[in-house]
Amino acid sequence: MKAIGLFSGGLDSAVAIKLLQDQGIEVIALNYVSPFCTCQGKHGCSIAELAKRNNIPIKMMSKGTDYMKIVRHPKFGYGSGMNPCIDCRIFILKGAKKYAKEIGAKIIFTGEVIGQRPMSQRRNTLDIIEQEAGLKGKLLRPLSAQLLPPTEAEKKGWVDRSKFLSITGRQRNQQMDHAKKMELDGFLCGGGGCRLTEKEYANKVRDLFKHSKRTSMNDFSLLNFGRHFRMGQTKIVVGRNERDNENLVRLKNKVDILLEPADCVGPTTLIRGRKTKEALTIAASLTARYSDSTQESVNIRSQGAKGAITVHKASEEFIHKIRI
Ligand code: SF4
Repeated sequence: MKAIGLFSGGLDSAVAIKLLQDQGIEVIALNYVSPFCTCQGKHGCSIAELAKRNNIPIKMMSKGTDYMKIVRHPKFGYGSGMNPCIDCRIFILKGAKKYAKEIGAKIIFTGEVIGQRPMSQRRNTLDIIEQEAGLKGKLLRPLSAQLLPPTEAEKKGWVDRSKFLSITGRQRNQQMDHAKKMELDGFLCGGGGCRLTEKEYANKVRDLFKHSKRTSMNDFSLLNFGRHFRMGQTKIVVGRNERDNENLVRLKNKVDILLEPADCVGPTTLIRGRKTKEALTIAASLTARYSDSTQESVNIRSQGAKGAITVHKASEEFIHKIRI
């Protein structure tokens, strides 16, 4: 018997997977990736490494561009940030259902726990998610199974319901005890990390939607790096460290412009959107502000172009005004 388990890389989904594996079920852990996901193991290892270390066969899938439409227009609204949790769960379960059909898996399950998350794991919300995903009566939640009506897999005897759990609420003590007994290693206690729940990141997403009718994966990936500034239809992103600088170079598209200090160490700056003379000067003054130069005026060059312009460093007051 084959089953698909949604796998965020967090403790709950790992315990759920082991509960099924312990009943002799062949489990494939389905992990969805997107530019918003920061999921990783305790020591910074990737989800794939974490799965391998714990003998969990994993299938990774991109949420793709259709997911971006859901983030922009969620039917069931947002959580505390720009996280459309209910729509997100429905979206990934629909994907899981399709994949289950492809590989002949009869059971789909999650690590959800009744009452653990304010938006997507309330009792009535679990029902809505199941219904909207086309899995009514079929979605198994092993961590809370004994408190929920029996699913198809339990009724038909594909799995033994008595071996599942009756966990509710936000505490994770019980999951931790089980994880210890199951010898699960390296999982972070919470669920998977999602940047859409973060206040600052949510502001950047709102700004992006406000100024762009169409958005790409690249636009969302860019939100993960650097300090972001807005000047009308121009977005300016200034790297904070070497990693940011490298990623700004990587994410630059054909029409973006990159700037960097000409004579001292400093950030890479990316300009996206309208390139007016004013916007270029402001981007250069921001680059100068975050450079190592002690001079008030700094030479800035555009990557690949000859020559440099000299600008004054942007003032703190101005930075505050245009920072997203
Ligand atoms: S926290 Fe993020 S990944 Fe998790 S359900 Fe909500 S939107 Fe989806």
